[in-house]
Amino acid sequence: MTQEPVIQVRNLHKTYNGIDVLKGVNFEVDKGQVKAVLGPSGSGKSTMLRLMALLEPADAGELILKGRRVGAREERGRTVHLPERQLAVQRREVGMVFQRFNLFPHLTAARNVMLGLTSVQGVSHHEARERSLAMLERVGLAERAEHYPSELSGGQQQRVAIARALVMNPSVMLFDEPTSALDPELVGEVLDVMESLAESGMTMIVVTHEVRFARRVADEVTLFDGGVIVEQAAPEEFFTSPQHERTRRFLSHVH
Ligand code: ADP
Ligand code: MG
Repeated sequence: MTQEPVIQVRNLHKTYNGIDVLKGVNFEVDKGQVKAVLGPSGSGKSTMLRLMALLEPADAGELILKGRRVGAREERGRTVHLPERQLAVQRREVGMVFQRFNLFPHLTAARNVMLGLTSVQGVSHHEARERSLAMLERVGLAERAEHYPSELSGGQQQRVAIARALVMNPSVMLFDEPTSALDPELVGEVLDVMESLAESGMTMIVVTHEVRFARRVADEVTLFDGGVIVEQAAPEEFFTSPQHERTRRFLSHVH
């Protein structure tokens, strides 16, 4: 029996100002699988993640979450985007971590992590606090729960952002270059947290330039270029014997 992907996009299209940014992308991730997405700047990686996280509507194509179409439905042959209220419910299934951590500066680490639980999920303050502290402990920040973002390093702030996404208990975690904004010496602590998350069985899509991380942690590596997927393969194959000239050229620049 083939298992059903946790999240899947089919024939995804997106255009900005008349420019085709996604040109029919098919992509999926199975339960417990980690997919790394590589590709040059401007190739559409972030756009795909934002569409998967239901932060923006696609122009065409389908987004399927645990076997169910989300974000839009077909009505008499036309695609109808769902109202915001329904999107908000579907969005909870997808955790997203951005390059910029976007923490609220006036809230402590614990408060930042709690916010989604209390304001979106209606969880009690007490339970939200317990769960948030447990999640901060999981990312190695139990001692920093009462610190404000300005009192934390970039690596610590990004780990708070990861805890904030995880505490909502998502079915899949999307990471958009989570270490690109960090000083080099802080990259490792964030990658370590992500690796342990992968080992715990989390389903993950990671857009990254960290080739060594992709090679070590991902089950499959995907190359994006010009709004299409160029190549997709197991890491060993992807890095040692890529099938496409475009992949070889890309790898020659990042190695
Ligand atoms: P990547 O993450 O691979 O660097 P992006 O998905 O961010 O690529 O961007 C792909 C292309 O889409 C780029 O040319 C970018 O300028 C354009 N783009 C992305 N978001 C927007 C937007 N909100 N409005 C207009 N153009 C956008
Ligand atoms: Mg990007």
